[in-house]
Amino acid sequence: MKQALENIESRMAQSAIKSGRKPEDVTLIAVSKTYPVEAIEQAYALGCKDFGENKVQELMSKIENIQNPIEWHLIGHLQRNKVKYVVGHVSLIHSVDSLRLAKEIQKESLKKDVVTSILLEVNVAKEESKHGIYMDEVLELVHEISKMSHVRLKGFMTVAPYTQNPEENRSIFRLLYNLSVDIQKQNIDNISTSILSMGMSNDYEIAIEEGATHVRIGTALFGTRDYNR
Ligand SMILES: *Cc1c(COP(=O)(O)O)cnc(C)c1O
Repeated sequence: MKQALENIESRMAQSAIKSGRKPEDVTLIAVSKTYPVEAIEQAYALGCKDFGENKVQELMSKIENIQNPIEWHLIGHLQRNKVKYVVGHVSLIHSVDSLRLAKEIQKESLKKDVVTSILLEVNVAKEESKHGIYMDEVLELVHEISKMSHVRLKGFMTVAPYTQNPEENRSIFRLLYNLSVDIQKQNIDNISTSILSMGMSNDYEIAIEEGATHVRIGTALFGTRDYNR
């Protein structure tokens, strides 16, 4: 794992520099779904502080079983009836994809007296199989969220199509970056566009070149996943 991490970090740094940024401006989120607690502790010992999980139940069980002060990211689809479990326990929810979900997060955050940081998940390529709102729905939802006292929009997330050739996703990353810049220019109250969560094991370098601030990497760090484990 040490070798893999060093390899990822050096590629991330090169891509950051290519895009005119500093290596420390791009955060690695280690996607630990399906991997045991020991793998997380090992990655933590090597310097990973941010971890991503896609299922609420698995996330909550890992939070309970790990003492290290980890920044937890929920990166998978969130159902409204599970909002109560995650609010107050995660650093960032990447996968907000409806007004109803945002309202539920607001309600629960108000109840717990916490402010919850979120990203809007955008389905840039309009893939039927994927969650996320379409590009042309983003602005309206941003305005609605800006009125919420206990929800803070921090930016956007996308899961690009799976492809053998990551170059094919460059235009998708660029579209989301441009949308984020457009929204930033509008100076909407209470929202920020500083985070762009995009790029996974097979396309993170391209994503960083196109402006990703957070990349979500599982396989390249932990190895191939076994969903039956
Ligand atoms: C699993 C997952 C990742 C990581 O995928 P890898 O290809 O293993 O790097 C990133 N983002 C989301 C939303 C995921 O579910």
